[in-house]
Formats: sequence, structure tokens, C-alpha cells
Amino acid sequence: MSTHYQIVIIGGGSAGITVAARLKRSGARDVAVIEPSDVHYYQPLWTLVGGGRAKDAESVRPMAWVMPRGVTWIHDAASGIDPEANSVQLASGTTVTYDRLIVAPGIQLNWNGIPGLADAMGKDGVSSNYDYYLAPKTWENVQRTRSGTAVFHMPAGPIKCAGAPQKIAYLAADFWREQGVLDNIRKVMILPTPGMFGVKVWSDVLVDVAARYGFEVHLNSVVTSMDGAANTMEVKNNETGETQTLPYNFAHMVPPQSAPDWLAKTSLVDPASPFGYMAVDKHTLQSTIYPEVFGLGDCTNSPNSKTGAAIRKQAPVVVDNVMASLKGGVGAGHYDGYASCPITTSRKKLLLCEFDYDLNPRPSLKGVNQMKEITDFNRFKKVGLPRLYWDLMLKGRV
Ligand SMILES: Cc1cc2nc3c(=O)[nH]c(=O)nc-3n(C[C@H](O)[C@H](O)[C@H](O)COP(=O)(O)OP(=O)(O)OC[C@H]3O[C@@H](n4cnc5c(N)ncnc54)[C@H](O)[C@@H]3O)c2cc1C
Repeated sequence: MSTHYQIVIIGGGSAGITVAARLKRSGARDVAVIEPSDVHYYQPLWTLVGGGRAKDAESVRPMAWVMPRGVTWIHDAASGIDPEANSVQLASGTTVTYDRLIVAPGIQLNWNGIPGLADAMGKDGVSSNYDYYLAPKTWENVQRTRSGTAVFHMPAGPIKCAGAPQKIAYLAADFWREQGVLDNIRKVMILPTPGMFGVKVWSDVLVDVAARYGFEVHLNSVVTSMDGAANTMEVKNNETGETQTLPYNFAHMVPPQSAPDWLAKTSLVDPASPFGYMAVDKHTLQSTIYPEVFGLGDCTNSPNSKTGAAIRKQAPVVVDNVMASLKGGVGAGHYDGYASCPITTSRKKLLLCEFDYDLNPRPSLKGVNQMKEITDFNRFKKVGLPRLYWDLMLKGRV
């Protein structure tokens, strides 16, 4: 069985819904979104859930609530794409064909990517803000920790919101400072990168923030395995080759990430890409292999920081270029790599990092020095950004 739509979108997450809403506002009539989930998450809030500043329920809405009116919701999962036949295979066994395809199924969390991580997760002081059900456990663990060793880990390779592994570290440390137990806790941060952040001006600030709380920062380092029963992990410094066994009482772990396995098997992928991301032109977001296909969000190989903020700028580009291509032309949509990462540096402050492909700072707040921590944390991250997301971005208005 096969059904045809003019525009098919795979994924009803931040990217898929934003693009669908914008397409409808641009006059597209025949749009379908393939999305298996009944709910839609605003994932940036999970940082605040883990840090005890928001409730998990605030981050979720029914999928039917966010699906734009006039768009067909195909309540199914894509399992394959045949770009030669302009068709998408669904898990149910049916096939959908398209004139234009927009690929946006997000990123895959590889909980088995570190031996022992999947077994340890959710038990004995181990949690992760990268999952709706695990983020509340982070807050339980933060409150329970009064002494011992707390580890905050970031895996190697591209991940969504590369700032999130540090955000929770500072929220937790600030809570321990308030509780008067900060100095009783050994705080270890394990980062695969040579610095705290890709943009120097903000990396320098984060060096000071980490020092302020007394973090031991292990750069160029990765966790190679975990033993949940023994509450230990093996850490390797990729520069020196040294390894050490690190005992922990609390560990905030972020899983390694990649393109979804089924997407990585399609011919839309650059075979040279080690993580299986879809190959797109980084400015037009059009497939470099099949001109009828576009991609945005966490699933592509465009070298921007994988964030919802990037999607806000990518969505109008994709819509312009898809609409123009349907008329036989070439769209003017051009994405410059803009991304934003609001790094919570305490329970009240944040560092609003905005930058482009060339890692040039791109501050957007008038009259605010974004090169330093700003104190409008509650209003901005807890109230302002979620409102921007639910009420404007997902409705295709910004
Ligand atoms: C802890 C955390 C903190 C973050 N903080 C920030 C932040 O402060 N600022 C920021 O801008 N971004 C932040 N992000 C990143 C942001 O949430 C993601 O970049 C964004 O959600 C990616 O959008 P997406 O549409 O590509 O993927 P998603 O929003 O993950 O959506 C993917 C959708 O595809 C669906 N799907 C999956 N498989 C299939 C399939 N086979 N067929 C069809 N559909 C499928 C899923 O059900 C889902 O609905 C954070 C993320 C996390 C986890």
C-alpha cells in the first residue's frame, strides 16, 4: 500500500514541527509528518529538571497539540528511505511517496556506546538529563549527595546541546554551595574536548566558573567503561594515553550519540561520516546527493552546534528552498551556522553563547554584555525560552 504527499517530513520533533508550521504558513497544501510518538518534548528544560528548577511535566505536550492544523500526521515510524523511488518505508510495512522529503528524526542516544553505562543508568547515583524519565533522578541524586565524588561526563563525538553536560554540573555545584556541602564533595568534570567550549571568549569564562566551584576538569578525556555494581568508571586521557579508575557516588552521564541506525543505512549518508549523519549542503540544507531531499536538526552533518536554536534559523531556510524547488527554481535560503547555548552557570545566572559556523560570537540581546554571565536566568531560561518555543517557534512564527 502506498500514499503520496507533495511534502513529507520525517520526525515531529523541534525541527519537523517547526518546518511543518512554516510550510503551512507559506501556503503549502499537501504536507504529511511521519511521527511515531504521542508526545512532544521541549528537551532544553530537562537541564532545569535535573537541577531542581523545573518539573518534568512542564517539558511535554501531546503530539496532537503541536501538530499544525491542516498537516497529515502519519502515526508511524520511518524505517527506510529509497530516494531513487522518492519513497519512505514505514515500520507498519506501508510506503509513502513524496515530491519533496524533509528528514528530521533527531539523534540516537547510544546507551550501549560505553560498556557498563546502560546497566548502571538510573541506579545507585547514576542518571542523565538526556532522557525525560531520567532527568528527575538527577535532581534526586543531587539532593542526596552531601559528600564523596560527583562526576559530570561528556562523551566524544557530536552530541545535542554540547553545553548540557556542563550546565548540570554548575547547577548541582551551586545547590551544594547553598547547602554548605560544596567543599565536602570532590567534583570531577570529564570532557573529550581540548577546552571548556569551542568559542574562546566563553571558554575562558567557563574556566573561571569551574574553578569557582572547585571542579577538577579532565580535558581530552573520556569514560571508557563503567562498573555500576562497584560504583567506578575507567577514564582515559586521549592525549597522554593515561587511564585511571575513578570511584563515584554520583555520576551525571551523557550517552554517545549518532544518526539513527536506520537513517545511517540509507544512501542519503556521506559514507565517510563516522556517525552516519545525513549529508546536506551546510548553507542550503539540501541533500548533497538527492536534490528532492532536505534535512535539518540533529540528524544532519552540517557542522553547527546541534540545538533547537539552530533549528529556529534552519527552518525558514529549508522552507524557502523547498518551496522554490517545487516551482522549479532555486531558493535563496542560506543558513550561516547560527546556534545558541544558554549555559547555566548557577541557579540564577547563565552565559548566553550565540555563534556561527566560524565560531564568531553573534550576541543578540541589545544592551546586555553576553561575554559575561547574566543574572536574568529565571525569566529567560525557565519562562522566556519555553514560551518562545511552544507559542512562537512551533507555530512557525519566529
Ligand atoms: C538535556 C538537553 C538540553 C538541551 N538544551 C538545549 C538548549 O538549551 N538550547 C537549545 O537550543 N537546544 C537544547 N537541546 C537540544 C535540542 O533539544 C535538540 O537539538 C532539538 O530537540 C533537536 O530537534 P530535532 O527535531 O532534530 O530532534 P528531536 O526534537 O529529538 O525530534 C526528533 C523526532 O523524531 C521522531 N522520530 C524518531 N525516530 C523516528 C522515525 N524512525 N520516524 C519518524 N519519526 C521519528 C521522534 O519521536 C521525535 O519526535 C538540549 C537537549 C537536551 C537533551
